[in-house]
Amino acid sequence: MDAFEYTSNPSRIIFGSGTIKRLPQELETLGLSKPLVLCTPQQTSQAEDVKNILGGKIAGIFSEATMHTPVEVTLQAVKYAEELNCDSLISIGGGSTIGLGKAISFRKGLYHLTIPTTYAGSEVTPVVGETENGRKTTKSDPKILPGTVIYDVDLTLTLPVGMSSTSGINAIAHAVEALYARNGNPIINLLAQEGVRALAEALPEVKKDPKSIAARSKALYGAWLCGTCLGSVGMSLHHKLCHTLGGSFGLPHSDTHTIVLPHALAYNAPNIPSAMDALSKVLPESDGDAVHGLNVLLTKLEVKRDLKSFGMKEEDVVKAAEIALSNPYWNPRKVDNKDAIQELIRRAWAGEDAK
Ligand code: NAD
Repeated sequence: MDAFEYTSNPSRIIFGSGTIKRLPQELETLGLSKPLVLCTPQQTSQAEDVKNILGGKIAGIFSEATMHTPVEVTLQAVKYAEELNCDSLISIGGGSTIGLGKAISFRKGLYHLTIPTTYAGSEVTPVVGETENGRKTTKSDPKILPGTVIYDVDLTLTLPVGMSSTSGINAIAHAVEALYARNGNPIINLLAQEGVRALAEALPEVKKDPKSIAARSKALYGAWLCGTCLGSVGMSLHHKLCHTLGGSFGLPHSDTHTIVLPHALAYNAPNIPSAMDALSKVLPESDGDAVHGLNVLLTKLEVKRDLKSFGMKEEDVVKAAEIALSNPYWNPRKVDNKDAIQELIRRAWAGEDAK
């Protein structure tokens, strides 16, 4: 066996149906009594539920969480948190809301309890991506990791089917890249395979019956495992490309991950035989080929396969390739051939098959 290092991220995880009711007890154990609740404008009713469960005992609600964590929104929220003199943060929502919680918690040293409602996985990572002047930069620090995660399956029932599918593929992407990470290790490989297996089974079931607690539980369980992979090992080409496309061209996060993943995997395939083998075993109907297995899953989910549907212009393909190559990073296959990367992005833009 190869030598490895493994560091676990210390957070408390509570998983199940109806677990949001555990909030009062959790806060009491932590000695916290004045949380600021964070959400997007679309999820204020869930923030109100948090308030009601806590018997009205909150400092306030900040409902302006925004995709890609713009710094100006964070600074407004920090000011509000200071005015209210809150002692903690509760974020309820997807990666955007959790990102805001992380950004405030990092600046103010406030305890962060999070209640994720998508499959993006941010709740178990010590990383935050923030956008300022049109550029998205990533900060990593153990202090960014939320202290407690309450996974309540019931809260995912309202996640629209399309978003459930793409958010689930976003989670799978974390596990895929974990399987060939430079600092990979046997524990993370196990989590990655189990995470992909759970999501690949659950997502078509969620599509068929979005209110199925069994399917939603399996999907959320997979999302937790895949998020843990993201929080533990380094990501490569796929995540870097999606970061560039999201941050520089305003493309939606989970749709971009869904479209790019087969292309990034096909590009890396010649250099990652054991990851391809592991993936092909956990992706149903793969016929021994992980890219094929992924395509089967995406076809079943009937998700969009082209970036142009989301407003990306053809001339942006060249720009995206230039940005992607401007910042060197480790990848199992060298990322130094502009033509090859440009062709990868063009295929994703046009919605052609991955090669
Ligand atoms: P999101 O948080 O932007 O949510 C998308 C929309 O869905 C929002 O309007 C939200 O209110 C709504 N929504 C969320 N859950 C819902 C539910 N259960 N029912 C109904 N509506 C619901 O989407 P996301 O994909 O979860 O997060 C994307 C953001 O998270 C990006 O900015 C990305 O960079 C970041 N992210 C960060 C990490 C990390 O580790 N730092 C990991 C993954 C994603």
